[in-house]
Amino acid sequence: MAQDKHRTALVTGGMGGLGEAICVKLAALGYTVVTTHSPGNTKAREWLESMRKQGLNFHAYPCDVVDWDSCVSCVSQIAKEVGPVDVLVNNAGITRDTTFKKMDKANWDVVIRTNLDSCFNMTKQVCDGMVDRGWGRIINISSVNGQKGAFGQVNYSAAKAGMHGFTKALALEVARKGVTVNTISPGYIGTKMVMAIPKEVLDSKIIPQIPTGRLGKPEEIAGLVAYLSSEEAAFVTGANIAINGGQHMF
Ligand code: NDP
Repeated sequence: MAQDKHRTALVTGGMGGLGEAICVKLAALGYTVVTTHSPGNTKAREWLESMRKQGLNFHAYPCDVVDWDSCVSCVSQIAKEVGPVDVLVNNAGITRDTTFKKMDKANWDVVIRTNLDSCFNMTKQVCDGMVDRGWGRIINISSVNGQKGAFGQVNYSAAKAGMHGFTKALALEVARKGVTVNTISPGYIGTKMVMAIPKEVLDSKIIPQIPTGRLGKPEEIAGLVAYLSSEEAAFVTGANIAINGGQHMF
């Protein structure tokens, strides 16, 4: 999966569980890696320093992916200081789980905006440039729960399913321009987001539903992102690739 040309990858939420593994993998393959973090992330400097100690020099910019103006100014600064973005990984996301009966408008809005509006806000900043240069990769990190639905996740399942609608429609529009757009739908991966689920729920309800009998690893998602970012993946577009240990097959 070596690059035949030097590429720059931008990973939103790159300091989170999956994001970090994606940044590390793309850096190992020789990409210049830029990550965004929430403007309120007080650990960003510490994270960058710990990566630097491992020989990984990432560029990092604050960006609220919910906020259009924040995305405009963040990506224009990246273009000036690092260069054009060849690979965009829309990875930033949140959950606010509760039953539909208890779900309020604020819980709905913040999940739709962070998981779905963010794809529009960030992709708009880079897509025209990819089309003009005749090469690009847009990778949207969705979820198995966008494919099958999940109790207590009407907001999250709707947002994650919406991401794949976005993927398919945009993939059609840019397919002849050397730009691919794909969705990855991970199952349960052992990141902080999942480890926050009480252990008894993991052991009694979640892991028994996974035929491989274990949670996925962030590195396994990162490997798929690396493939979709590569030259070899040029014929894969508009796909929704499940990576869930066999939990949901369709
Ligand atoms: P984390 O909570 O570890 O990471 C999510 C990242 O999103 C954080 O780094 C956070 O940035 C960023 N983020 C959240 N809100 C905003 C915002 N408004 N603006 C900018 N950045 C924001 O979660 P994971 O790594 O587990 O999840 C990554 C993606 O994978 C998500 O989209 C999630 O829905 C999806 N996913 C995860 C699964 C799992 O099992 N872990 C399964 C299926 C899908 P910061 O840290 O700077 O605040």
